[in-house]
Amino acid sequence: MSLCFPHNGKNNRIDHAIEMKILFTTDLHGNKEKYGRLFLAAKTHKVDAVINGGDMLPFGKNLFSQGRFITDYLNGHFSKFNDDKIHYLCCPGNDDLIIFDDLLDDTCNPYPYVVNLAQRKVKISGFEFIGMNWVVDYPFPLKDRCRMDTADYQFQEQYGAAVISTPDGWKEIADWHAYAKTLPTIADELDRLVRPENMAETIYIMHMPPVNLGLDQCRHGPTVGSKAIFNFLRTTQPRLSLHGHIHESPESGGNWIARLGDTTCIQPGQLEPFTFVLIDVKKMKFDRYLA
Ligand SMILES: [Zn+2]
Repeated sequence: MSLCFPHNGKNNRIDHAIEMKILFTTDLHGNKEKYGRLFLAAKTHKVDAVINGGDMLPFGKNLFSQGRFITDYLNGHFSKFNDDKIHYLCCPGNDDLIIFDDLLDDTCNPYPYVVNLAQRKVKISGFEFIGMNWVVDYPFPLKDRCRMDTADYQFQEQYGAAVISTPDGWKEIADWHAYAKTLPTIADELDRLVRPENMAETIYIMHMPPVNLGLDQCRHGPTVGSKAIFNFLRTTQPRLSLHGHIHESPESGGNWIARLGDTTCIQPGQLEPFTFVLIDVKKMKFDRYLA
């Protein structure tokens, strides 16, 4: 499926963006076959940049082995893109333990083309890319990256005790609601996020999708997107915002692409086949693939 949404910018001013082709995928959860396909697709489609939107690491019984996946697999994966001069921007997601963020940085840093974009900005070919990987709280125990959406956020019913990762193992949070209220909200995190110079040529990568656009549709019906992200995008109007997190959304009656004013928002989902979107950033042309 191919869609085209030209970006007019404020007052229909002339768009000076230069050619750039991006492959966006998300929620690979350590699936080596999909990582292999990602590299082949990047080569086949001759993209300038790959964006890996989070939940990069294996999600199984022992999450504390995720560090080994970074050193034993991702290091080699990153080196292939670096050798081929393909930019690779990534962000850990809510299922990627926060204790391995430094290891991910240390693994990316030797490669000039590879960047952990979480809460950071990079500029490539005139476009500014900004990452934000905090997520709105959910019913599941792992709370490393969970935040209240806004100050008046109503918690969902919880499935079991809340935990966060530490280098010594899990730490249980006895009163998660009280603890979460001491943390910045998603709205606060967006407020303090690094700002771009030119919104019309800015691309946000946020693991969490916005509410209200059909990009956050769970299998059993509820929509769980972020009001704070929706409000932020509606107000700031970047060129593009790229999301993940709700793998099944496009198949659960949701959309994989939506417009919010002059901003195009994409959430490709991640299904059994390797799922990705090719983006022509100048033409604002989008093609979703299930490969
Ligand atoms: Zn995921």
